Amino acid sequence: MAYQIQIPRTCLYCGKVFIAQKTVTKYCSHKCNQRHYKVLKRQEKIQQTLEDDKRTATEPTTLPSTKSIGSREYLSVADACELYGISRFTVYRLIDSGKIAAGKIGRRTIIPRSEFTKLFS
Ligand SMILES: [Zn+2]
Repeated sequence: MAYQIQIPRTCLYCGKVFIAQKTVTKYCSHKCNQRHYKVLKRQEKIQQTLEDDKRTATEPTTLPSTKSIGSREYLSVADACELYGISRFTVYRLIDSGKIAAGKIGRRTIIPRSEFTKLFS
């Protein structure tokens, strides 16, 4: 009678202890094997997405400061410079030429974001 090796192993998917017939067996059943494979594939995809996000985050266009400006409805001249990559001179020229309407709060020049989006439409 042949001696059969019996190796107690823990299923990688469900954590159940089972007796493996082969040392390479990692799952208690084929079902667990399949399910775990799917989980791994999904995690791989998530990991990939996270890495893509990280890459995007390091690009200069998505600096945190730009993001906060990006959600503002009214921009200061400095904000507009940073957000659209233009000089203060350009901003004042646009205001002077009437291409964009700006308001003043005290000494601050405030420009509604819609004035800028209007330029691009
Ligand atoms: Zn299992």
